[in-house]
Formats: sequence, C-alpha cells, structure tokens
Amino acid sequence: MFTRSRQQLTQWLMLAMGSVFVVFGGLLYVLEVERELYKLDRRLYREAELLVSGGGSQSLPDPHYPVQFEVTTVPLLGGSTLTITSDLVYARWYDSNNHLLMYFGPLGGDRQVQPGYQTQTLDGQRLRQMTVPIESEDQVLGHLQLAVPLAPAEAALAQIRLFLCVGLPVGVGLMGLMGWWFAGQVMRPIQTAYRRLEQFSADASHELRSPVASILSQAELGLMADNPQNQTLRLRRIAELAQSMGRLINSLMLLVSADQPSTEQPFNLTELLQSLALELEAEAEAKALRWDLDLPAAAIWVKGEADLLRQAITNLLSNACRYTPAGGEVWLALSSQAETANIVVRDSGIGIPAADLPHVFDRFYRVDAARSRETGGFGLGLAIAQQIVQAHGGKIQVTSTEHQGSTFTIVLPLAGARLNPQRQRSRPRSLRTKSAATHLLE
Ligand code: ADP
Repeated sequence: MFTRSRQQLTQWLMLAMGSVFVVFGGLLYVLEVERELYKLDRRLYREAELLVSGGGSQSLPDPHYPVQFEVTTVPLLGGSTLTITSDLVYARWYDSNNHLLMYFGPLGGDRQVQPGYQTQTLDGQRLRQMTVPIESEDQVLGHLQLAVPLAPAEAALAQIRLFLCVGLPVGVGLMGLMGWWFAGQVMRPIQTAYRRLEQFSADASHELRSPVASILSQAELGLMADNPQNQTLRLRRIAELAQSMGRLINSLMLLVSADQPSTEQPFNLTELLQSLALELEAEAEAKALRWDLDLPAAAIWVKGEADLLRQAITNLLSNACRYTPAGGEVWLALSSQAETANIVVRDSGIGIPAADLPHVFDRFYRVDAARSRETGGFGLGLAIAQQIVQAHGGKIQVTSTEHQGSTFTIVLPLAGARLNPQRQRSRPRSLRTKSAATHLLE
C-alpha cells in the first residue's frame, strides 16, 4: 500500500514538475526566438545606416555573430561600385514609386516594398529581410531593402532546442528520483504510525477475542448444566470475564485519550501523591507490604491533566504492589531539581529480567504471561503510564534486578511557580504513611 502511494506521489510530482518545465522551457524558447530576431533586425538596421551614409557596408563585429564576412565589390547600376564587407545576401534600392534602382545580390524572392521586417526564403535559404524608407526633409525618397541569412540565428535556436529536448527529460527524471526519495521521507513517520496502529488493533482484537470466546463457552456450558449450582458457577465466571473485558476496554480508551492532556493548568504534585498514597495504602496493607513515603512538605507544581498523571503513577504503584511478595517494601518518593520534578516508585519485588527491560513499556507486553494473568494484567499499564508522561513533556525510566526489585522514575518539567521555595531547597522530609495520613486528616 505504501509503495503504491509512494509511486503515485512521485508520479504526481513528476507530472507537476514536468508541466512546469515544459511551460518554462516553451516560454524560454519563445523569448530566445524574439531575442535572436531582434539581434538580426538591429544588425540589418545598422547595415542600412552605413549604406545610406554613402559608404559600403563595413564589417560589423557582433559578439553574437562571429560571421566571417567576405569582402565583395559590387557593381551597381549606373556604373558605380560598392564595397560590401558583411554577409548581406542582397541590398536593393527602390525609388519613391517602388521601382528598383540599384541592387546587389540575387534578384529573386518576394520583391514587395513593404516597410518592416520579414522572414523570406530565397533559393532554399531562409533570410531575414528589412525594408526601410529613406527620407530627406520629411519626404520619402525611396526604400532600401536588405537581407541577411537566418542560419546563424537558427543554429543558436537549434542548440537551445537540443538543450531543452535533452535537459527536459533528464530534469524530469532527476525530479522523479528526488520525488521518490522525498516521498519516502515524508511517508516514513506515517508508515511507522500506521504499523503501530495496525499492531495495536491486531493486539487489541486478539486480547478481546479470548475473553469473548471464554464467555461463549461458559454460557454454553451453563446452558447445558443440569444443576443450578453448576449454572451459578458458570454465570459467576462470565461476570468475571466481562469485568476483565471492561477493564481492558477502559485501558484501551485511556491509551487513546492519554495522547493529549486536556488542560495545561498547573497543579500541586505533592498533594496528588499524598492523596494517592492514602488510596493505595490499603492495597499495600492487604498484601502485608511495608509502605514508605518520602514526600516534600512543599508544593511542587507541574502543568497538565492531574487525573491522567494520577493514572500513570497509580499504574506504577499498583504494579509495585502486585509484583512484590508479602513482607516486601514499596517506596514512593518525590523531589525537585532546578527544572524538573522527580517521582520514584521502588519495590523490593520479583524484579524484571534484563532481557525484558527494553520492552516493558510496549503495548500488551508481559514479562511472563503466567504471572501477569495471575495478577490480572493485560500488559498495558506501563504503556499507558509512558504515554501519559510523554504527553506531559516528561520521561519515564526503569531499572530492575531480578528477585531484588524494580525502580521506576518519572521526570516531569516543573510548571515554574513553586510555593515556599525556601523549604524546597532543604532536604525533603521523610514521612511514614501512618503519620502522613494522620497529618492529612488533621
Ligand atoms: P501488566 O498489566 O501485565 O502488569 P504492565 O504494562 O503494567 O502490564 O507491565 C508490563 C510487564 O512488566 C508486566 O507483565 C510485569 O511482568 C512487568 N512489571 C511491571 N512492573 C513491574 C514491577 N514493579 N515488578 C516486576 N515486574 C513488573
């Protein structure tokens, strides 16, 4: 699909540029024809001026026409002679009644006396002819008609035609190559985004297909069950599967909406983490985990959508609780530097194998499907967290050692305004959950 689009883009570019080249080439050629004729006409006029001034035509050096003029002595009617040292093909003098008085050169061709410039053909040779009235004291005495060969101008034009005929296809070909490369560059990010979307749709439909199939088979088994107990069992399983599907759909919706925070309002990150700690404390206690907090007393302000960031940190904290066996420790810390706020979620849990670390933020990636399924994960929690953090201009990192624990760090840009900067600089006060909770409830 992308190759076809790339080809089409290149073809359109070639067509567009080809048309522009043809129009410009045509225009250039027409202007060149005009210029060549103008040069010839100017030469003819200067020749005429010299002839009328009484002398013979002199060699008129013209940088554009390196014509080797032959020196010709022309016998004129009436016995006089004229020395012609130019490539004039003929010169004809007419009286006021348009009767030919004198001439040199062949007499053929169109002998109409019509002032102006014409292009003539004489004995197969193309000529540029000028007929100019000769006046004295506002009285037309007669006309002088001169002609020079068109060949030098035609040779110059032939060169331009050759240049255009060769240059145009070469130019369009080069344009095509550039277009192909350019289209490839333009389409690369689209292609990457499309592939990711394709992969995401495939993963999402795969993830949804298995619970749907399970619901169907549970329903069929329930229908076939011969006692109410068995039926209740099946219905309960269906409810669980539907709940799990609901969670997956919510995660997928979150992934779609997490790309763009709906607000840029500054909010107090310290307060957000304190309330989050209160919420998750129960979960930690239920699993007999030690729950350590290291939050500053001062407010730390960041910009964005507080609910989204709450979701990202919740994902990290609930992972820490899920993947830490009873008796372990979960640690949440917040600190700030000159430009950033740093949130650290650490646990002393099962850790992540080094080979899996680069992939844990990928969508639907589970280190070990068995242990994730046991804890009900879809492999979306970290992907969602990463997407939210990146949408807020921050970054998320992980370090982990298997069987020792994991540390997730979120770095967010500060909103700028920070309350109580004096206390910011002092070491953040370490709080134990119990005391923090009491402090907040007071
Ligand atoms: P899930 O919903 O399956 O937990 P996540 O995207 O949150 O998906 O995590 C991806 C994988 O990373 C999980 O399958 C889990 O194995 C591993 N993981 C995430 N957090 C931790 C952690 N704190 N300790 C150990 N493994 C973790």
